[in-house]
Amino acid sequence: MKEIKRIALVAHDNRKKDLVEWVEWNYKLLIVHKLICTGTTGRLIEQTIKAKLKKEDTVQYEITLLKSGPLGGDQQLGAMIAEGDIDLVIFLWDPMEPQPHDVDVKALLRIAVLYNIPTACNRSTADFMISSSLLNTKYEPIMKDYSRYLKRTLSYE
Ligand code: PGA
Repeated sequence: MKEIKRIALVAHDNRKKDLVEWVEWNYKLLIVHKLICTGTTGRLIEQTIKAKLKKEDTVQYEITLLKSGPLGGDQQLGAMIAEGDIDLVIFLWDPMEPQPHDVDVKALLRIAVLYNIPTACNRSTADFMISSSLLNTKYEPIMKDYSRYLKRTLSYE
């Protein structure tokens, strides 16, 4: 990971207010990095950052909006993780309500763990992540070695 991180931000509807509030607190730390969001979350975050930067419109920041989560946004993020294009995930998922795209949520969380991506699923973890001394430094996450799995011989080979 380089100094500038590619941070994925996602929140389910019942957690969007929390994420927006968290972004209001942390936008200065966040806009140094590249932000990648699912559609609706991204729209709200963009509005939040714009409102905060009203008086400083020369400040540049990068935010990418993917598809809305239930329409494939979570899967897009998962694919980006597999391609090595995401460094951190902040995903405030809703533990109280089933989602139409629960399988995509599970897949995203699984792939994030598989690739050893720091993943915050609640505000406290996001606070620890944003205040980590590793946030603005180079960092090499240790990847598990899957070579034996890839080279395994199947019975019909
Ligand atoms: P949304 O998707 O940001 O488009 O609402 C979030 C999600 O994955 O549910």
